[in-house]
Amino acid sequence: MDIELRRVDSPDELVEGRCMMCEVEFTPGTVVADPSDTYGRLVCEECVGYLHGRNPERFPSVELLHRLIAEYPTPAFPSVEAIIRLEHEDLQEAERQLTASVLWVARPVEQVSA
Ligand SMILES: [Zn+2]
Repeated sequence: MDIELRRVDSPDELVEGRCMMCEVEFTPGTVVADPSDTYGRLVCEECVGYLHGRNPERFPSVELLHRLIAEYPTPAFPSVEAIIRLEHEDLQEAERQLTASVLWVARPVEQVSA
């Protein structure tokens, strides 16, 4: 499982949901731990802390998550409508901004031992 830390796209994502690992409900912050292969299902802070403790090379720390939330206190876009509008006006720019909202990714496995 690869986890990336990304800004939420819009305020619509700041709603309570179930952690994909522990199934406990939590409300995400403006930066979330998103397993790249289960889009939409997030990992809660407690599970991020557990995973990092088990394997710090592969998983981000809660401290990093908190630091990024402080650094990016707002979603990447003010609304879903703003994303759709920009996609109509300038699809490349919309894609660039959505790609830029990914703040941290796990290093590829083959680089971990290097
Ligand atoms: Zn959890």
